[in-house]
Amino acid sequence: MATNRRGFLKAGLGVTAVAATVGKPKPAKAQEAQSAKAGAQVACLVDTTLCIGCRKCEEACNRSNRLPRPAQPFSTRHVLRNNRRPSADAFTVINAYPGEPSREQLDRAETFVKVQCMHCLDPACVSACIVAALTKTAEGPVIYDADRCIGCRYCMVACPFEIPAYEYLDPLTPRVRKCSFCVDEQQQTGANPACAAACPMEAILFGERSELIKLAHERIEQRPARYVDHVYGEHEVGGTSWLYLAGRPLPKIGLTKLPRLAPPRLTESIQHGIFNYGAAPLAFYGGLAGLMWLSNRGGKGGQDDE
Ligand code: SF4
Ligand code: SF4
Ligand code: SF4
Repeated sequence: MATNRRGFLKAGLGVTAVAATVGKPKPAKAQEAQSAKAGAQVACLVDTTLCIGCRKCEEACNRSNRLPRPAQPFSTRHVLRNNRRPSADAFTVINAYPGEPSREQLDRAETFVKVQCMHCLDPACVSACIVAALTKTAEGPVIYDADRCIGCRYCMVACPFEIPAYEYLDPLTPRVRKCSFCVDEQQQTGANPACAAACPMEAILFGERSELIKLAHERIEQRPARYVDHVYGEHEVGGTSWLYLAGRPLPKIGLTKLPRLAPPRLTESIQHGIFNYGAAPLAFYGGLAGLMWLSNRGGKGGQDDE
Protein backbone atom coordinates (compact mmCIF):
# COMPACT_ATOMS: atom_id res chain seq x y z
CA MET A 1 0.00 0.00 0.00
CA ALA A 2 1.37 3.42 -0.94
CA THR A 3 2.21 5.78 1.91
CA ASN A 4 0.12 8.94 1.83
CA ARG A 5 -0.11 11.89 4.18
CA ARG A 6 -2.88 10.36 6.28
CA GLY A 7 -1.26 6.92 6.36
CA PHE A 8 2.04 8.43 7.35
CA LEU A 9 0.56 10.41 10.21
CA LYS A 10 -1.25 7.31 11.42
CA ALA A 11 1.92 5.27 11.32
CA GLY A 12 3.64 7.93 13.41
CA LEU A 13 6.50 10.25 12.58
CA GLY A 14 8.92 8.61 14.97
CA VAL A 15 8.73 5.11 13.54
CA THR A 16 9.24 6.27 9.98
CA ALA A 17 12.09 8.60 10.88
CA VAL A 18 13.94 5.87 12.75
CA ALA A 19 13.38 3.44 9.90
CA ALA A 20 14.85 5.99 7.49
CA THR A 21 17.89 6.55 9.69
CA VAL A 22 18.79 2.92 10.05
CA GLY A 23 17.87 2.05 6.45
CA LYS A 24 20.23 -0.20 4.56
CA PRO A 25 23.18 1.91 3.39
CA LYS A 26 23.92 2.05 -0.34
CA PRO A 27 27.15 0.47 -1.58
CA ALA A 28 30.26 2.62 -1.19
CA LYS A 29 30.71 2.79 -4.97
CA ALA A 30 27.20 4.16 -5.49
CA GLN A 31 28.43 7.46 -6.92
CA GLU A 32 30.60 5.78 -9.59
CA ALA A 33 27.73 3.44 -10.52
CA GLN A 34 25.42 6.44 -10.73
CA SER A 35 27.82 8.25 -13.07
CA ALA A 36 28.16 5.19 -15.31
CA LYS A 37 24.37 4.95 -15.67
CA ALA A 38 24.11 8.71 -16.25
CA GLY A 39 25.46 8.55 -19.79
CA ALA A 40 22.21 7.01 -21.06
CA GLN A 41 20.03 9.50 -19.18
CA VAL A 42 18.48 12.55 -20.77
CA ALA A 43 19.84 16.01 -20.05
CA CYS A 44 19.73 19.63 -21.18
CA LEU A 45 22.73 21.73 -22.17
CA VAL A 46 22.29 25.48 -21.64
CA ASP A 47 24.70 27.62 -23.65
CA THR A 48 24.65 30.91 -21.76
CA THR A 49 26.62 32.62 -24.55
CA LEU A 50 23.61 32.14 -26.85
CA CYS A 51 20.87 33.21 -24.43
CA ILE A 52 19.36 36.66 -25.14
CA GLY A 53 17.13 36.82 -22.05
CA CYS A 54 13.86 36.77 -24.01
CA ARG A 55 12.04 34.76 -21.30
CA LYS A 56 10.23 32.60 -23.86
CA CYS A 57 11.38 29.57 -21.85
CA GLU A 58 9.81 30.98 -18.68
CA GLU A 59 6.54 31.61 -20.51
CA ALA A 60 6.48 28.13 -22.06
CA CYS A 61 7.22 26.52 -18.69
CA ASN A 62 4.36 28.38 -16.99
CA ARG A 63 1.97 27.46 -19.80
CA SER A 64 3.02 23.81 -19.85
CA ASN A 65 2.73 23.45 -16.08
CA ARG A 66 -0.47 25.50 -15.86
CA LEU A 67 1.17 28.01 -13.54
CA PRO A 68 -0.38 31.46 -13.06
CA ARG A 69 0.73 34.30 -15.29
CA PRO A 70 3.09 36.68 -13.48
CA ALA A 71 1.87 40.08 -12.27
CA GLN A 72 3.99 41.72 -14.97
CA PRO A 73 4.02 40.22 -18.48
CA PHE A 74 6.86 38.00 -19.69
CA SER A 75 7.94 40.82 -22.02
CA THR A 76 9.06 42.83 -18.95
CA ARG A 77 12.85 42.80 -18.81
CA HIS A 78 13.80 44.75 -15.69
CA VAL A 79 12.95 41.73 -13.48
CA LEU A 80 15.95 39.91 -14.98
CA ARG A 81 18.24 41.99 -12.77
CA ASN A 82 16.47 40.90 -9.56
CA ASN A 83 18.45 37.68 -9.08
CA ARG A 84 15.22 35.67 -8.88
CA ARG A 85 14.85 32.09 -7.68
CA PRO A 86 12.34 29.52 -8.91
CA SER A 87 9.13 29.64 -6.89
CA ALA A 88 5.83 27.81 -6.55
CA ASP A 89 4.54 29.97 -9.42
CA ALA A 90 7.62 29.84 -11.66
CA PHE A 91 9.65 26.65 -12.02
CA THR A 92 12.29 28.38 -14.14
CA VAL A 93 13.62 31.94 -14.22
CA ILE A 94 16.22 33.82 -16.23
CA ASN A 95 18.63 36.12 -14.40
CA ALA A 96 20.86 38.77 -15.95
CA TYR A 97 24.44 39.47 -14.89
CA PRO A 98 26.13 42.66 -16.10
CA GLY A 99 29.14 41.90 -18.28
CA GLU A 100 29.60 40.47 -21.75
CA PRO A 101 28.81 36.74 -22.17
CA SER A 102 32.36 35.98 -23.40
CA ARG A 103 35.57 37.52 -24.77
CA GLU A 104 34.07 37.01 -28.24
CA GLN A 105 30.95 39.00 -27.41
CA LEU A 106 32.29 42.34 -26.20
CA ASP A 107 29.35 44.21 -27.74
CA ARG A 108 26.84 42.59 -25.39
CA ALA A 109 26.22 44.14 -21.98
CA GLU A 110 24.76 41.19 -20.07
CA THR A 111 24.94 37.45 -19.58
CA PHE A 112 21.66 35.61 -19.07
CA VAL A 113 21.45 32.41 -17.06
CA LYS A 114 18.47 30.06 -16.77
CA VAL A 115 17.70 28.58 -13.34
CA GLN A 116 15.59 25.47 -12.62
CA CYS A 117 15.95 22.12 -10.84
CA MET A 118 19.24 20.56 -11.97
CA HIS A 119 17.88 17.00 -11.81
CA CYS A 120 21.02 15.83 -10.00
CA LEU A 121 22.33 12.32 -10.70
CA ASP A 122 22.50 11.59 -6.98
CA PRO A 123 19.94 14.08 -5.62
CA ALA A 124 20.19 15.39 -2.06
CA CYS A 125 16.44 16.08 -2.07
CA VAL A 126 15.68 12.42 -2.78
CA SER A 127 18.07 11.27 -0.06
CA ALA A 128 16.55 13.71 2.47
CA CYS A 129 12.93 12.73 1.79
CA ILE A 130 11.91 10.22 4.45
CA VAL A 131 8.72 9.10 2.67
CA ALA A 132 10.11 8.78 -0.89
CA ALA A 133 7.95 11.61 -2.21
CA LEU A 134 10.88 12.53 -4.48
CA THR A 135 12.45 9.94 -6.75
CA LYS A 136 15.12 9.88 -9.44
CA THR A 137 13.84 8.10 -12.52
CA ALA A 138 16.12 5.83 -14.56
CA GLU A 139 15.70 8.23 -17.50
CA GLY A 140 16.99 11.23 -15.53
CA PRO A 141 14.16 13.45 -14.23
CA VAL A 142 13.72 13.85 -10.46
CA ILE A 143 9.97 13.67 -9.88
CA TYR A 144 7.64 14.51 -7.02
CA ASP A 145 4.59 12.69 -5.67
CA ALA A 146 2.35 15.09 -3.74
CA ASP A 147 0.30 12.19 -2.30
CA ARG A 148 3.32 10.88 -0.43
CA CYS A 149 4.63 14.27 0.74
CA ILE A 150 4.17 15.11 4.44
CA GLY A 151 5.35 18.72 4.09
CA CYS A 152 8.48 18.34 6.25
CA ARG A 153 10.49 20.39 3.70
CA TYR A 154 13.75 18.51 4.38
CA CYS A 155 14.22 18.48 0.60
CA MET A 156 14.28 22.29 0.58
CA VAL A 157 17.04 22.33 3.20
CA ALA A 158 19.03 19.58 1.50
CA CYS A 159 19.07 20.91 -2.09
CA PRO A 160 22.52 22.43 -2.85
CA PHE A 161 20.91 24.64 -5.51
CA GLU A 162 18.09 25.95 -3.27
CA ILE A 163 15.46 24.89 -5.79
CA PRO A 164 12.36 23.32 -4.21
CA ALA A 165 9.68 25.89 -3.42
CA TYR A 166 6.65 25.45 -1.18
CA GLU A 167 3.05 26.52 -1.51
CA TYR A 168 3.00 28.46 1.74
CA LEU A 169 -0.20 30.23 0.69
CA ASP A 170 -2.16 26.99 0.38
CA PRO A 171 -3.50 26.27 3.90
CA LEU A 172 -4.97 22.82 3.10
CA THR A 173 -2.79 20.84 0.73
CA PRO A 174 0.47 22.73 0.21
CA ARG A 175 2.93 21.04 -2.16
CA VAL A 176 6.63 21.24 -2.82
CA ARG A 177 7.02 22.69 -6.32
CA LYS A 178 9.84 22.41 -8.81
CA CYS A 179 10.64 21.69 -12.44
CA SER A 180 9.62 18.15 -13.42
CA PHE A 181 11.81 18.16 -16.57
CA CYS A 182 8.43 17.95 -18.35
CA VAL A 183 8.62 14.24 -17.61
CA ASP A 184 5.05 13.44 -18.69
CA GLU A 185 5.54 14.94 -22.15
CA GLN A 186 8.90 13.18 -22.43
CA GLN A 187 7.39 9.79 -21.54
CA GLN A 188 4.19 10.17 -23.56
CA THR A 189 5.44 11.73 -26.78
CA GLY A 190 9.22 11.93 -26.47
CA ALA A 191 8.82 15.70 -26.74
CA ASN A 192 11.52 18.16 -25.73
CA PRO A 193 10.92 19.97 -22.44
CA ALA A 194 8.68 23.00 -23.03
CA CYS A 195 11.46 25.49 -22.28
CA ALA A 196 13.90 23.87 -24.73
CA ALA A 197 11.23 23.69 -27.45
CA ALA A 198 10.40 27.38 -27.00
CA CYS A 199 13.94 28.79 -27.12
CA PRO A 200 14.43 30.79 -30.33
CA MET A 201 18.24 30.75 -29.96
CA GLU A 202 18.71 27.00 -29.42
CA ALA A 203 20.37 27.98 -26.18
CA ILE A 204 18.81 24.89 -24.52
CA LEU A 205 19.61 21.55 -26.16
CA PHE A 206 17.87 18.38 -25.01
CA GLY A 207 19.34 14.91 -25.55
CA GLU A 208 21.40 12.10 -24.10
CA ARG A 209 23.65 13.34 -21.31
CA SER A 210 26.86 11.75 -22.60
CA GLU A 211 26.26 13.22 -26.09
CA LEU A 212 25.63 16.69 -24.69
CA ILE A 213 28.81 16.55 -22.60
CA LYS A 214 30.75 15.54 -25.70
CA LEU A 215 29.19 18.40 -27.66
CA ALA A 216 29.95 20.88 -24.89
CA HIS A 217 33.65 19.93 -24.84
CA GLU A 218 33.79 20.16 -28.63
CA ARG A 219 32.40 23.71 -28.48
CA ILE A 220 35.00 24.65 -25.86
CA GLU A 221 37.81 23.18 -27.94
CA GLN A 222 36.67 24.83 -31.16
CA ARG A 223 36.10 28.30 -29.66
CA PRO A 224 38.38 28.85 -26.66
CA ALA A 225 37.78 32.63 -26.79
CA ARG A 226 34.08 32.07 -26.36
CA TYR A 227 33.96 29.54 -23.53
CA VAL A 228 35.58 28.93 -20.16
CA ASP A 229 36.99 25.41 -20.05
CA HIS A 230 34.35 23.96 -17.73
CA VAL A 231 31.05 22.19 -18.33
CA TYR A 232 29.07 23.11 -15.24
CA GLY A 233 27.11 20.11 -13.96
CA GLU A 234 29.39 17.49 -15.47
CA HIS A 235 30.89 16.79 -12.05
CA GLU A 236 29.34 19.24 -9.53
CA VAL A 237 27.65 17.39 -6.63
CA GLY A 238 28.19 14.09 -8.43
CA GLY A 239 26.85 15.39 -11.77
CA THR A 240 23.56 16.92 -12.85
CA SER A 241 21.16 16.48 -15.76
CA TRP A 242 21.22 20.19 -16.55
CA LEU A 243 24.59 21.28 -17.90
CA TYR A 244 25.92 24.76 -18.65
CA LEU A 245 28.43 26.33 -20.99
CA ALA A 246 29.64 29.81 -20.07
CA GLY A 247 31.97 32.49 -21.37
CA ARG A 248 32.68 34.08 -18.00
CA PRO A 249 33.92 32.76 -14.64
CA LEU A 250 31.02 30.65 -13.38
CA PRO A 251 30.56 32.17 -9.89
CA LYS A 252 30.17 35.62 -11.56
CA ILE A 253 27.01 34.41 -13.30
CA GLY A 254 25.41 32.60 -10.38
CA LEU A 255 26.83 29.14 -11.09
CA THR A 256 28.10 28.47 -7.60
CA LYS A 257 31.28 26.53 -6.97
CA LEU A 258 30.27 23.18 -5.48
CA PRO A 259 32.21 20.03 -4.55
CA ARG A 260 32.27 16.94 -6.78
CA LEU A 261 30.98 14.71 -4.02
CA ALA A 262 27.20 14.28 -4.03
CA PRO A 263 25.77 15.36 -0.63
CA PRO A 264 24.13 11.94 -0.04
CA ARG A 265 27.58 10.26 -0.31
CA LEU A 266 28.83 12.53 2.50
CA THR A 267 25.84 12.06 4.80
CA GLU A 268 25.79 8.31 4.21
CA SER A 269 29.51 7.99 4.95
CA ILE A 270 28.89 9.78 8.26
CA GLN A 271 25.98 7.41 8.90
CA HIS A 272 28.16 4.40 8.08
CA GLY A 273 30.85 5.77 10.42
CA ILE A 274 28.36 5.95 13.24
CA PHE A 275 27.25 2.38 12.60
CA ASN A 276 30.71 0.93 11.98
CA TYR A 277 32.78 2.78 14.56
CA GLY A 278 29.86 3.31 16.93
CA ALA A 279 29.75 -0.45 17.45
CA ALA A 280 32.85 -0.43 19.70
CA PRO A 281 31.58 2.21 22.18
CA LEU A 282 28.17 0.54 22.17
CA ALA A 283 29.76 -2.82 23.03
CA PHE A 284 31.86 -1.12 25.75
CA TYR A 285 28.91 0.63 27.37
CA GLY A 286 26.78 -2.51 26.97
CA GLY A 287 29.47 -4.55 28.75
CA LEU A 288 29.74 -1.92 31.47
CA ALA A 289 25.98 -1.97 32.01
CA GLY A 290 26.10 -5.77 32.22
CA LEU A 291 28.88 -5.62 34.83
CA MET A 292 26.94 -3.07 36.91
CA TRP A 293 23.84 -5.23 36.77
CA LEU A 294 25.83 -8.30 37.86
CA SER A 295 27.56 -6.39 40.67
CA ASN A 296 24.21 -4.98 41.89
CA ARG A 297 22.80 -8.48 41.78
CA GLY A 298 25.83 -9.77 43.65
CA GLY A 299 25.43 -6.96 46.22
CA LYS A 300 21.75 -7.74 46.70
CA GLY A 301 22.57 -11.43 47.08
CA GLY A 302 25.17 -10.50 49.77
CA GLN A 303 22.62 -8.41 51.70
CA ASP A 304 20.13 -11.24 51.48
CA ASP A 305 22.77 -13.62 52.83
CA GLU A 306 23.53 -11.25 55.71
S1 SF4 B 1 18.61 20.58 -7.89
FE1 SF4 B 1 17.82 20.25 -5.83
S2 SF4 B 1 15.67 19.74 -6.12
FE2 SF4 B 1 16.68 19.43 -8.10
S3 SF4 B 1 17.32 17.26 -8.09
FE3 SF4 B 1 19.07 18.43 -7.32
S4 SF4 B 1 18.80 18.35 -5.07
FE4 SF4 B 1 16.81 17.81 -5.99
S1 SF4 C 1 11.84 21.21 -18.22
FE1 SF4 C 1 9.65 21.74 -18.22
S2 SF4 C 1 9.19 22.11 -16.05
FE2 SF4 C 1 11.44 22.20 -16.28
S3 SF4 C 1 11.97 24.33 -16.62
FE3 SF4 C 1 11.72 23.39 -18.63
S4 SF4 C 1 9.58 23.77 -19.14
FE4 SF4 C 1 9.77 24.08 -16.96
S1 SF4 D 1 14.11 31.11 -24.39
FE1 SF4 D 1 16.27 30.67 -24.80
S2 SF4 D 1 17.17 32.64 -25.35
FE2 SF4 D 1 15.19 33.08 -24.42
S3 SF4 D 1 15.70 33.41 -22.25
FE3 SF4 D 1 15.16 31.25 -22.43
S4 SF4 D 1 17.13 30.21 -22.74
FE4 SF4 D 1 17.46 32.40 -23.16
